[in-house]
Amino acid sequence: MENNQTMMQYFEWYLPNDCTLWNKVAEEAKHLNHIGITHIWLPPAYKAAGGKEDVGYGVYDLYDLGEFDQKGSIPTKYGTKEEYLNAIKVLQENHIKVLADIVLNHKMGADETEEVLAVEDDNSNRNVSLTDAKPIKVWTKYTFPTRGDKYSNFHWNWTHFHGVDWDENTGNSAIYKFYGKHWDENVDKENGNFDYLMGADIDLNNFDVITELQTWGKWYVTETGIDGFRLDALKHIRTEFYVNWLKNLREEMDKGLYTVGEYWSADIDTMTQYIEKIDGCMSLFDVPLHYNLYRASISNGEFNMSQIFDGTLVQSNPDKAVTFVDNHDTEIGQPLESWILDWFKPHAYALILLRKEGIPCIFYGDYYGIASQNKKPKKEILDILLNVRENYAYGEQNDYFNDNHLIGFTRVGDDEHPNSGVAVIMTNKLGGSIAMNVGKHLANAVLYDCTRSCSETVQIDNEGNGIFYCKDGSVSVWIKQV
Ligand code: CA
Repeated sequence: MENNQTMMQYFEWYLPNDCTLWNKVAEEAKHLNHIGITHIWLPPAYKAAGGKEDVGYGVYDLYDLGEFDQKGSIPTKYGTKEEYLNAIKVLQENHIKVLADIVLNHKMGADETEEVLAVEDDNSNRNVSLTDAKPIKVWTKYTFPTRGDKYSNFHWNWTHFHGVDWDENTGNSAIYKFYGKHWDENVDKENGNFDYLMGADIDLNNFDVITELQTWGKWYVTETGIDGFRLDALKHIRTEFYVNWLKNLREEMDKGLYTVGEYWSADIDTMTQYIEKIDGCMSLFDVPLHYNLYRASISNGEFNMSQIFDGTLVQSNPDKAVTFVDNHDTEIGQPLESWILDWFKPHAYALILLRKEGIPCIFYGDYYGIASQNKKPKKEILDILLNVRENYAYGEQNDYFNDNHLIGFTRVGDDEHPNSGVAVIMTNKLGGSIAMNVGKHLANAVLYDCTRSCSETVQIDNEGNGIFYCKDGSVSVWIKQV
């Protein structure tokens, strides 16, 4: 029996720096399996420049998974290597696949400086240089004095990078491109060329770098037994790099290595072109859908709900879409802040969890809450929707997107899941009703609203038709009463 796949992003930006996440996820593994989670995306597990204060994206040493006393501690923000490996093992024992967060665009927190020649590029158009080459002092030497050469003797220097944003000599911050280097083509065209994001930008055209990162990938999969990846910052990385990296790794390891990438663009054409260029070798997070959900949540009932899936990846390329509501970057105070308001979270999760298309990804900050921001856990409603996803949301889908505010859809159920089938109705304005068909599986059944928003029941006729309700600004999910 094939059940629905469901992902969870198991961290949020403002978790306390207490090195306990690996142990927590291991303790929760059984529960996560119980609520239907099939894939867990864990945060970057290697030592970052800020040590245990660092969320993990400022990568210092890819080989230090919380094993060496570097950057002020042995563990990372989330725990030690031993705890990480144990968490992966326990999750897998509970039938959950584990995805590692892979950050290969840049490095930070070098051990030593070097003198190099560099030109300063225009920040808003990186195809234009503002100066001639001049000497600057940069943090680009990575010798890993504490780890030494365990696992790898590769030492990074400026020739392995394109550029940086800091001159240690003058204390100036700018887009510095090393003399003789060029930003990679086949990256996003924002700012003329968006190869450079932060830190020391890795030269992913450099033969030694490509070889080392391939070796590292093999080491990582072997060492951790990871099942797949979440790839960071794709629009800053030349298209060919990950195509080859993934292909080689899948062949060498003889593993499927399910992969979802972060290409942060709200433009569906850009995303479609990217999927074509990478020959569909990974799924992508549905960023356009996130922004539709965000706009719907902040528009005070003015958003046209019949267009909620327009221009999204899940609509145009459902097999490659990982749908999500919020993530660590969209949280309040983060660079991509676009936090979906509380009242709309049940709508948003019903729209990703109960439909046929896409693999939905639940955000830790929604499920467990964000204590530092006083965001309460949405565990209660999410557990209800997850239960509907796991037991009822099967079969063909009928859409009733005929009104600008009140919309609905049904799943007609299938033979493999007893009592399956569901009717979903929601509004961003006034409540109301829609006549919908839930299929012959549910003919003559009585349905109730499992969100407990409406207390009435709905009688289905012998053709599978019923009239379903929801209240002002809310969502109701109708399943069979047994
Ligand atoms: Ca780059």
